[in-house]
Amino acid sequence: MRQQSIRPILASLSLVVLALFSDPLSRAQQPRRSGAHSTPRETFTAADRTMVERAIGTACAERVRDPLGSTPIDEMQARPSLSISHPDALAGARRADRLLPVTKRLVANALLKLAKDYDLYQVPNARAKLNLSTARVQAVKRVRPDVDARDNASVLLRDPRTIEFGTIFLAGLRSDEAMVSVLAHELTHVASGQSDSLRPLFRAIARHASARTGLRIQGQRAEELACDLVGLIAAREFINGEPSWEPQPRRLARAVEHNCVDDDSSDEDHLSPRNTIRALFTLDLDLARELLTTGLSRAGSAPVANLQSTR
Ligand SMILES: [Zn+2]
Repeated sequence: MRQQSIRPILASLSLVVLALFSDPLSRAQQPRRSGAHSTPRETFTAADRTMVERAIGTACAERVRDPLGSTPIDEMQARPSLSISHPDALAGARRADRLLPVTKRLVANALLKLAKDYDLYQVPNARAKLNLSTARVQAVKRVRPDVDARDNASVLLRDPRTIEFGTIFLAGLRSDEAMVSVLAHELTHVASGQSDSLRPLFRAIARHASARTGLRIQGQRAEELACDLVGLIAAREFINGEPSWEPQPRRLARAVEHNCVDDDSSDEDHLSPRNTIRALFTLDLDLARELLTTGLSRAGSAPVANLQSTR
């Protein structure tokens, strides 16, 4: 699931997850993409690229200002293990339990939307696979805090109804938006299942992102990125469904803030954390735009202003 410290964690994380499951999905909703699906043929301009970079800067600057901002995974990785009974871990576990039901629904919806956007799973047989995927998501019943998992979360094949969640990770995600994003990521692995039924979607999303960013996104990287995309879509829908006095850009930023690392390393199975944000915003220019067009500028120095020109 997430990257970060890629070595141990990744290892554990994705390895575990992957090994166990696998399949993510993602989304694609951009405005202009009418029929673009898996073929990233829409234009992606220099202005779009500039907007994406500004959105990354804005999201990560907001992380610092926001009292509920997530801890970057490289910081999590450097922390000592955290007891299950630590108040922050307990708070995270309660948050995860509370949000699991709604996140399952959001993931199912996101998968359906992505399948449509990428023009996949639309014929009866394929549709049946997609339905099985969402049924697997619904079957997930619990989140289990685990000290040794540290800053990782994963789902094991032998017990696909349980999301194992490291206590450091639980404590480092201090907002509902961040938690929904990460839970949705794990649920997407579950959705694909041992049969890898969402692999076509993962690949389509990866091709799209790769064409726009020039990043190499194949194999497991495609699945991890797609899981993150579902997480982002789920978080946005969660925000839309749960009005708050907080600025929307601040809430949106929380979905990716754990990737705001200083140590931006990658591995074979994952893009680096910052490239993950880059790929996500590149796939969803609307989201990048939303981060830049409202509000946050008041809170700090980041020149957030409006870049609507982009694109
Ligand atoms: Zn993953």
